[in-house]
Amino acid sequence: MQAFPRSLWAATATPASSYPPLRGEVTTDCVIVGGGFTGLSTALHLAERGIGAVLVEANEPGWGASGRNGGQVIPGLKLDPSELRAKYGEERGRRLTTTVGLTADLVFDLIARCRIECDARRSGWIQGAPGPKGLAQVRRRAEEWSAEGADVAVLERDEVEARTGSGAYAGAFLDRRGGTIQPLSYARGLARAAAAAGARIHGGSPAVALERVGQHWKLATDAGAVTASRAVLCTNGYTDRLWPGLAQTVIPILSSIVATEPLSDNLRTVILPGREGVSETRRVLNWFSVDGKGRLVFGGRANQQETDDPQAFGAVVRRLQSAFPMLGEPRIAFRWAGYVALTRDHVPHLNELASNLFAGLGYNGRGVAMSTMMGKLLAERVAGARADDIPLPATPISPIPFHGWRATGIALAIGWKRLQDWINP
Ligand SMILES: Cc1cc2nc3c(=O)[nH]c(=O)nc-3n(C[C@H](O)[C@H](O)[C@H](O)COP(=O)(O)OP(=O)(O)OC[C@H]3O[C@@H](n4cnc5c(N)ncnc54)[C@H](O)[C@@H]3O)c2cc1C
Repeated sequence: MQAFPRSLWAATATPASSYPPLRGEVTTDCVIVGGGFTGLSTALHLAERGIGAVLVEANEPGWGASGRNGGQVIPGLKLDPSELRAKYGEERGRRLTTTVGLTADLVFDLIARCRIECDARRSGWIQGAPGPKGLAQVRRRAEEWSAEGADVAVLERDEVEARTGSGAYAGAFLDRRGGTIQPLSYARGLARAAAAAGARIHGGSPAVALERVGQHWKLATDAGAVTASRAVLCTNGYTDRLWPGLAQTVIPILSSIVATEPLSDNLRTVILPGREGVSETRRVLNWFSVDGKGRLVFGGRANQQETDDPQAFGAVVRRLQSAFPMLGEPRIAFRWAGYVALTRDHVPHLNELASNLFAGLGYNGRGVAMSTMMGKLLAERVAGARADDIPLPATPISPIPFHGWRATGIALAIGWKRLQDWINP
């Protein structure tokens, strides 16, 4: 079992409950692989329906992206409502828009209903636009979501600066449905809620084989096995070879975060006094927020190798300094990284891999809210909803060509996107 990286979240989270490894053979209705938001939300929603659920996690619940992310609760997807209608058709696109518009509600409702202590703040989400292209994008986004009745607005240059303390943006999209959470505490709270509802959760239990036995799926871990009529794979950017071809449907990209020492009272009145979560319209984007103790949490793309060597975080710190020159040499207290899973079409995938075998993954760096919703949708499908009744269409897996060359592809794509960001911000 691998330890958590030394992150701000690991240092400040609510204590973990103990989830012992699976030993011996058990039978249940549904077996779930992966203990991040997707798997835990699936387990919780199944258990609340009285459906037996056993979840196996290779490490501890929240060990993957769910316990490492920026903690920004962002409604919607990368695609706007008109793009969803163009991609999925008028009727499906509208249903999906409604569902993805409700993802932040689901997170904050679950936190309230299950009494999850995770420093949750529904303080809004800001998407800053560094230049004309981004500005046109945020104006269109605000128009489209307003037409859906969402509580959103456009912020002009001086308004963004007043809220964020950064002069880096020509304008921004404000989505008041969003906010921030302590992500590892949220993951641990979901795990506790799922267990309290009757799900069985096993940490330190890597799934090593999955096979069809008659009408059932048999999932083997290194010390036990689960037999279930249905199975759900929720391994996202940490997907291994358990199911052939699934890992090839996403590109895992390492994303890095630093957190400063608590800011001075003076700086706290300037930098995010309202504690919104902030991201950008850039193609290679940065994001930031302030935690309950006034630490600035700043993330973005650095390199593709996991390390806590401060030098590897140099690029992220330089971008932090450029967004907040008044910080001078920021005092960095924590540095960590995790894998986001990108898809070719920029939307998450609900895959039907075989009869009664499902997967939900590929949140493109926007999964706090959407993975929680994905778990709910997966639970509905497992509970017997027809595929057509689920707003996100179920698709067979479609491996990305030349996936084996992804390291080179990522480096080239990032360079190209940075150039486009520079030419046309
Ligand atoms: C640095 C970073 C910053 C981010 N910031 C944000 C943000 O601010 N807002 C936002 O909306 N999204 C953000 N995201 C994305 C978000 O964190 C993810 O989309 C979301 O957490 C995905 O949850 P998940 O449960 O699908 O996957 P994960 O949380 O990655 O969980 C997958 C789990 O599967 C387990 N696993 C893998 N293989 C096996 C196996 N064979 N057997 C057993 N277990 C296995 C892993 O150990 C892991 O714990 C960020 C991601 C990263 C990495």
